[in-house]
Amino acid sequence: MKINLYNTQTHTKEEFKPIKKNEVKIYTCGPTVYNFASIGNFRTYLFMDSLRRMFKYNGYKLNHVMNITDVGHLTSDADTGEDKMEKAARKEGKNPYEIAEFYTKAFINDIERLNIDKVETITKATDNISQMLEMVQEIIKNGYGYETSKGIYFDVSKLDKYPVLSNNEVTGQEAGARIEVDPEKRNPYDFAIWIKAPENHIMKWDSPWGKSYPGWHIECSAMSRRFLGEHFDIHTGGVDHIPVHHENEIAQCKGAFGHSPVNTWMHCEFLLIDGGKMSKSLNNIYTVSDLIEKGIEPLAYKLFCFSAHYRNKLNFTFDGVKASQVALNRMRQSYIGHLSSDDDIDDTIITEYEEKFHEAINDDLNMPKAIGIVWEALKNTKSKKIAKLLLKFDEVLGLDLENSAKYLEENTSDIPEEIYRLIEERKQAKENKDYSKADEIREKIREKGYVIKDIKNGEVEIERV
Ligand code: AMP
Ligand code: ZN
Repeated sequence: MKINLYNTQTHTKEEFKPIKKNEVKIYTCGPTVYNFASIGNFRTYLFMDSLRRMFKYNGYKLNHVMNITDVGHLTSDADTGEDKMEKAARKEGKNPYEIAEFYTKAFINDIERLNIDKVETITKATDNISQMLEMVQEIIKNGYGYETSKGIYFDVSKLDKYPVLSNNEVTGQEAGARIEVDPEKRNPYDFAIWIKAPENHIMKWDSPWGKSYPGWHIECSAMSRRFLGEHFDIHTGGVDHIPVHHENEIAQCKGAFGHSPVNTWMHCEFLLIDGGKMSKSLNNIYTVSDLIEKGIEPLAYKLFCFSAHYRNKLNFTFDGVKASQVALNRMRQSYIGHLSSDDDIDDTIITEYEEKFHEAINDDLNMPKAIGIVWEALKNTKSKKIAKLLLKFDEVLGLDLENSAKYLEENTSDIPEEIYRLIEERKQAKENKDYSKADEIREKIREKGYVIKDIKNGEVEIERV
């Protein structure tokens, strides 16, 4: 079956054509490990997970690289400010290597808790310094780089076109909001590829320009080239990477070896919180651990992320994610129901769902549609065939549905099956607009010792009276 993916560079959905038959080479910009990754960051890694799993489902071999940025990411993406790692180290009274190790471990732990499929190669920026330095030297040799008192800069005016990914019209624009004016730069949009280290900078290496360290953008170009070569299939990241980081990756590759390395650029839209940005000043940055503390499983957050297409903004609310937790338990319950049934259903029904699901995921990862098909399938007469189908779908969803019984035992063992059945009946009554029956069932549930509260999308929260 065809796979269609939206390419940021061409602004269109294109049929995916691998460079090498049955293999897909992907590069993902990984975290800057100076802090715990937020659930916003993880929306982008969950999108990456769906992409990997979709390719596997289609029989592809994966060669996927994700980096860990442990040096060179300055507090402003536009190459100004301080190295985020050094700043965090000073704040926590540790050295930047300790900071990197601690937050990398935390990141991997969260990746596992979200059941994100294991990327083939995870590589740290500090393990690729010589490749970065070589690339900087090639860029200079080819006439695209120049030295200033701060470091080595990339001269964007030497390119045939800049930018190519974002819509910003650079020509004729003055250095302004995005770029800090630096009189030593030849063009306002020139960016640092190698940075001369101040005396107190801990992470620094010998170079022809003294002790220094790589710029964030050169890191990803050098690592993708080392592990995937000069031409690979897909590059992923969040939308904030489009105008600067990824634009500059393309520029550097053109400067070093003459062309953009990537066929398809894919970007995940932002997770918003209560309709706005996550920010420290609003005290609304949540981590996976924060969700767990509030009784939300990481896998429920994953299901929540499937409620919007990756190219649309998604608004996080606790009510919304609680609804996903309830829905996940209902999905597990339903799986167990199907698994324990001896009834048969027609194979053509199964094939139909399989096709619809496959079409949805191959259509630029339409996960909301795929989840809709899952619910449709679960509504069928209970049958082991549906349970088996669900496990097949779970190869893409990654919700660990095989272990449904274990999760239910852990977090809802005190709620009897009968209550779930009544909730299901009430939902049906509401769908049929039979509200008096719905109220009767609510009362019946209360008599049995449980109070239900409607949250969102027909989901309910259950509490003991
Ligand atoms: P960073 O560690 O800041 O480089 O970010 C890691 C990844 O998370 C990048 O791909 C960002 O584009 C992405 N990202 C950052 N904030 C959000 C957000 N609110 N929603 C979705 N993705 C995000
Ligand atoms: Zn990157």
